Amino acid sequence: MDAGGDMELPEWCKLLPKIELHAHLNGSVRDSTLLELAKVLGDEGVINFEDVVHVIMKNGRSLPECFKLFDLFHILTTDHQTVTRITKEVIEDFAAENVVYLELRTTPKQNESKGMTKLSYMKAVINGIQAVDTVDVAFVTSGANNLPLSETTPVNCISNCNKRKKIYVRLLLSIDRRETTASAMETVKLARELKDFGVVGLDLSGNPIVGEWETFLPALKHAKEIGLPITLHCGEVPNHKEIKAMIDFCPQRIGHACFLKEEEWTRVKVLRIPVEICLTSNIQSERLSSLSNHHFADIYKVNHPVALCTDDSGLFSTSLSNEYHLAASTFGLNKRDMFILARSAIQFSFADLEVKEELSKIFCEAEGTLFM
Ligand code: 5GP
Repeated sequence: MDAGGDMELPEWCKLLPKIELHAHLNGSVRDSTLLELAKVLGDEGVINFEDVVHVIMKNGRSLPECFKLFDLFHILTTDHQTVTRITKEVIEDFAAENVVYLELRTTPKQNESKGMTKLSYMKAVINGIQAVDTVDVAFVTSGANNLPLSETTPVNCISNCNKRKKIYVRLLLSIDRRETTASAMETVKLARELKDFGVVGLDLSGNPIVGEWETFLPALKHAKEIGLPITLHCGEVPNHKEIKAMIDFCPQRIGHACFLKEEEWTRVKVLRIPVEICLTSNIQSERLSSLSNHHFADIYKVNHPVALCTDDSGLFSTSLSNEYHLAASTFGLNKRDMFILARSAIQFSFADLEVKEELSKIFCEAEGTLFM
């Protein structure tokens, strides 16, 4: 019998517990929030509101256009209060989609005019996690007493009780490809400092045609030495010298992998490097022309470790439930396949064993409801 009784597939995909491993904070902001922030800055004369509305609401953008848009988002969102607000909202939105584990990534930013340092930016993010009040958030801060975060609440497990849903939240610090070696190194050191505040690893992202792999290598090597897991945006453009170097580096995960050649895939498969797949993002940003020949089909078929992710749910108007539905309708996955796929992502997360066990239990409990 088909699992899930007579429930419609989109509804079932929403009910399915999900693990999100590739979500950028500033790419996941609600349109309504961006418009509200733009209105304020428009009234203050900082931006032209009409121009910005047009850009925010436009559908389908090439990859270079996406990066221009991120610069605009950062103008709208980068003060401490707003960073806290968007973090809170993004977590609530993922929880509403029944995401039970969210590995949220963001680029620590410094902005002298706002009195912002990379550390104070991260404090604002952490404050956002603590501010969530519509769902129960499990967020690690054990042994946090010696950290320079006096304005946040160092408790053992922040758990905003009395909620219907529970979401585990962990953070990845992103290095933007525009950064220097020294700045990347600073981010790695910050990640280590914030290990007890839910930071579980690092990401390399930003415009793939900007910057050189060699610039980030010292910082990434250092991260490896101190035991911080790494995920790399890899193969978003056909830069095969870089793709080879990234695979040779042997990161814990890679994201996108749109332009890998046969021999590069062979290496990724031999090394069993898990791949974060973002279907809607790849199509909307015009990295790939159609889903019918998306590399997900091939790696899924051979049982290679893979996780469906949103990338930028706000920018691309998607949700993780929608990404599962899309995979099911495009690649013929049934409900059992989706359940197994969603559950398998637990092992590719950078969470500790205890959290992974808790997540496994959540899937175990959900199985009964999903397959009645
Ligand atoms: P933030 O780190 O500011 O919270 O999230 C937005 C940033 O994430 C962007 O400025 C960009 O550096 C990175 N980002 C978001 N989506 C993508 C993507 O699809 N590819 C790459 N390479 N970077 C991305």
